[in-house]
Amino acid sequence: MASQEPNPNGSSTSTNPAANILTYHCLCAQLSLATTTALEDLPQRQMDAAAIATVGDFASPTRPTLTMQALSADVAATVLKLDDGFEKRYVVRCSRCGLAAGYHLDKSQFGGTEGQSGPQADVVYILPGGLLTTEEMMAGRSMEAEIGKVGLMTA
Ligand SMILES: [Zn+2]
Repeated sequence: MASQEPNPNGSSTSTNPAANILTYHCLCAQLSLATTTALEDLPQRQMDAAAIATVGDFASPTRPTLTMQALSADVAATVLKLDDGFEKRYVVRCSRCGLAAGYHLDKSQFGGTEGQSGPQADVVYILPGGLLTTEEMMAGRSMEAEIGKVGLMTA
């Protein structure tokens, strides 16, 4: 009598790290970035609800949470006047349409690096509402397709 024990590890043999990567698009549909954690699950900056992510190659040992695709930071800093002083930022934009997706802070905003300036490029703040997940974009696309079909039928 053969008893067939289900292999407890049977379902986890095909673990693919790429399956946990989420992709986000600019409103112009350009692929902007990929993350290992949904933007809404990342730590948030209190002042503007921006998602705080570490930037780099996913294969690197620093285990970054975000890889930028078609995004580039402004060369010139933008200085913001805040209640308690100033903040120097480098706006990160879609390299296709120029829409701001987030920003880097200046190195001088971080403790222990006084006297240095330039973007702190390994940390990015992603502004809320500026990006679509691939899923949301596809949903928008299929809606457009539906509208297109209706248009064809009535034409
Ligand atoms: Zn864009």
